[in-house]
Amino acid sequence: MNKIGTVLVANRGEIAIRVFRACHELGIRTVAVYSKEDNLSLHRYKADEAYLIGEGKSPVEAYLDIDSIINVAKKNNVDAIHPGYGFLAENMDLAKRCAEEGLIFIGPRLEHLNMFGDKIKARNQAITAGLPIIPGTDGPVQSIDEVKAFAMKHGFPIIIKASAGGGGRGMRIVRGPESLSEAYHRAKSEAKTSFGNDEIYVEKLLENTKHIEVQILGDAEGNIVHLYERDCSVQRRHQKMVEIAPSIAFSDSLRQAVCDAAVKLMKHVNYLSAGTVEFLVTPDEKFYFIEVNPRIQVEHTITEMITGIDIVQAQILIADGYSLHSEEVGIPKQENISCHGHAIQCRVTTEDPANNFMPDTGKITVYRSGGGFGVRLDAGNAYAGSVITPHYDSLLVKVSTWGLTHKSAINRMRRALGEFRIRGIKTNIAFLDNVVKHEKFLSGTCDTIFIDSTPELFV
Ligand code: ADP
Repeated sequence: MNKIGTVLVANRGEIAIRVFRACHELGIRTVAVYSKEDNLSLHRYKADEAYLIGEGKSPVEAYLDIDSIINVAKKNNVDAIHPGYGFLAENMDLAKRCAEEGLIFIGPRLEHLNMFGDKIKARNQAITAGLPIIPGTDGPVQSIDEVKAFAMKHGFPIIIKASAGGGGRGMRIVRGPESLSEAYHRAKSEAKTSFGNDEIYVEKLLENTKHIEVQILGDAEGNIVHLYERDCSVQRRHQKMVEIAPSIAFSDSLRQAVCDAAVKLMKHVNYLSAGTVEFLVTPDEKFYFIEVNPRIQVEHTITEMITGIDIVQAQILIADGYSLHSEEVGIPKQENISCHGHAIQCRVTTEDPANNFMPDTGKITVYRSGGGFGVRLDAGNAYAGSVITPHYDSLLVKVSTWGLTHKSAINRMRRALGEFRIRGIKTNIAFLDNVVKHEKFLSGTCDTIFIDSTPELFV
């Protein structure tokens, strides 16, 4: 313990800054890495030191350049590496290299990255832990005939998924036999090009469902706690846009059952660090496991707001060998972890909702953000003069608001969004306001196709 004196964040943007903040509060020295395109990016200035990585590589490949990252770590007395989300967060090679080089990987054990990085393996773990799963093929499908056989048995619609998929990509819905062959071939080739692995499997498509996920923390002594659930049903093309915590449209008994199931799975695998167990929930309150994300998630902020627990600091301290309930980490026993009030996170992006959410690029000429009581901002390059490039994802600032009630958190979100003035670049702020003022959002009843099936959001 106390082995971690310096942390390198192998990431960029808001999540790199988020981790630096956690470190600075813990008195830990911070090291940023940046691609040449990110030469002027804010994250490099928010760390104590910053080093260029991935010379000669493409903007994205630079952040995937494990050799270059390890090199910076070794040269600069780094003790531990935090991968953030995306890029190398679920990459076994980074975790392996860290172990070989005597560096601490701030995340779960290699075996967890292995079992949860692959959706089929994750399903199998969920089955052995006794969790309810969506009817699906036993393993990967090797031919169209296998997909047909599944559809004959379970009926359409079905969803073809890449085992290595993530970020809402690598999924294809098939509503009838006529589109099956094309969907099969496309899913396979997309999986190969996007994830370097063409393994696919099939699940029954569950309609009118909500996406509910449970935040978990586990330590090296085998303690596992949940920090309640988030409702991430407001999605566009399977990608989350607005999240709330806790969920509000379900009975307390369902909430308890979902949290219990998540804990059961993570105890079963002896999980370490922060992770999220994701479920789909039907209107009649049946829930089904979909996957585990073995990393910090974009929407962790709202769980922090309702529990008061700093999840990133917990990750760092757990990686340093402290137990959850130690004085240093300070997480209470499960029965004493309270859930206070309601929180909402909106992902403000530099995208144009009127043009199919096309990412916009260019210089931000005016930037004034919202603020005040109960408003939390986690931003990357969000300031006047910042140049938004096409190289990386279009997340500009995460706006999280807290209120005693869901309604007051909404009022606060609308007020905060309304205070923003961003010029020079298009954003989705007006669209987000349309979402959070919608009656379905107020009642907490949005399902995963809410955005795609609600045209009035686009006016
Ligand atoms: P990713 O790893 O890309 O985030 P997930 O497996 O978490 O993929 O699924 C993302 C979203 O896709 C879910 O929140 C849900 O909206 C939709 N989805 C996934 N599987 C199914 C399914 N079997 N039926 C209906 N929707 C699904």
